[in-house]
Amino acid sequence: MSHERVFVGLGANLGDAAATVNAALEALDALPGTRVLARSSLYRTAPVEAQGPDFVNAVAELRTALDPEALLRSLQAVEAQHHRQRPYPNAPRTLDLDLLLFGERAIATPALTVPHPRLHRRAFVLEPLLELDPALGHPALGPLAAWRSGTADQPIERLG
Ligand code: ADP
Ligand code: MG
Repeated sequence: MSHERVFVGLGANLGDAAATVNAALEALDALPGTRVLARSSLYRTAPVEAQGPDFVNAVAELRTALDPEALLRSLQAVEAQHHRQRPYPNAPRTLDLDLLLFGERAIATPALTVPHPRLHRRAFVLEPLLELDPALGHPALGPLAAWRSGTADQPIERLG
């Protein structure tokens, strides 16, 4: 198994969002060659670019033997198990799983951009990431804590 630190963002704003996020965390731990090492608290956030009810968000740190493309396919399979549909961009979703960071890797293919291009601008990603590791660095942008002030206008409530 790779020693790279892998972080996945979870979000849901349809149905019982907290239950879905908790179930998804268990599904991540059950992926082949994959372990959830740590999970953040659950957070409640207002939709930023998406629509609909408030979101429940969290971040998980994984160790995995999967390569990034295989991990993305697995994340999409877990979304599908939770009946994720994509009727239009930023539609409300039963479950969204985003690959945030894969060690120090920079990936830019049609299917996958890592680090996730918006992770440092979204309170619902930054806050749970920094809960897991306040000193966490971004391969291109440096310490992520420095980006927190830029998201201060995004309401976020830690649910525990
Ligand atoms: P979003 O999360 O941006 O609201 P989707 O979950 O529908 O939207 O994802 C749209 C596409 O984004 C997916 O088909 C996937 O191939 C692509 N994508 C690119 N980079 C990533 C990433 N780091 N994590 C998850 N999906 C990604
Ligand atoms: Mg997504």
